[in-house]
Amino acid sequence: MGKRLILLGAPGSGKGTWSKIISDEKGLAHIATGDLFRAELAAETPLGCEVKSYMEQGALVPDELTIKLVEKALTDKNASNGFVLDGFPRTIPQAEALGELLEKRGLAIDVVINLIIDESILIERTLSRLVCIKCGQPYNAKNMAPAVEGTCDHCGGNVVHRSDDTEETLRKRLEAYHLSTAPLIDYYGNRDLLVAFSNDGPPSDETRNRLFALIDGAKGKA
Ligand SMILES: [Zn+2]
Repeated sequence: MGKRLILLGAPGSGKGTWSKIISDEKGLAHIATGDLFRAELAAETPLGCEVKSYMEQGALVPDELTIKLVEKALTDKNASNGFVLDGFPRTIPQAEALGELLEKRGLAIDVVINLIIDESILIERTLSRLVCIKCGQPYNAKNMAPAVEGTCDHCGGNVVHRSDDTEETLRKRLEAYHLSTAPLIDYYGNRDLLVAFSNDGPPSDETRNRLFALIDGAKGKA
């Protein structure tokens, strides 16, 4: 049976990139709340309309709504075969709800990986990151550019700088991230599920091997 993982990490820590690599190579469902929001919006579902109303106000999508979307994704993506959660949970109520959702299915998290990165490296890396506006595939102008500049390798969509990636917004996001995530670090630390993973370098085979060894060795305790 596939592993069930949570990746935690500040914006720009490589969470999105590694979640995709892990899920692709290990055949796990990749559940990213950003993707879920985008998909619901695009399909104009009732949940999508609700999500849209919050996003238009610049407000955070409430826990209850986010949890509903994750529950739907766990079912749709056949998550009993293993998954990588990327961007969820963000709060203690979300973590508790996730625990209940999994318990109902007789499942549990195997490991929570906390990607740790030096802040100055993180800022430099974030300011050079790019994203496909069509499929959400992340790129980086410095070390992970698409084969053809400005064009997604996977879907041919436009690859652009994220408009919210400025140093000022980044510092604000980091501060907000640390405030909101600190309780999660304790929550999963207390359950003996948390492992810190240093991700200061660019994506490399060394990082990949170290990360995969960690995942393969993980045995859920919850
Ligand atoms: Zn794309």
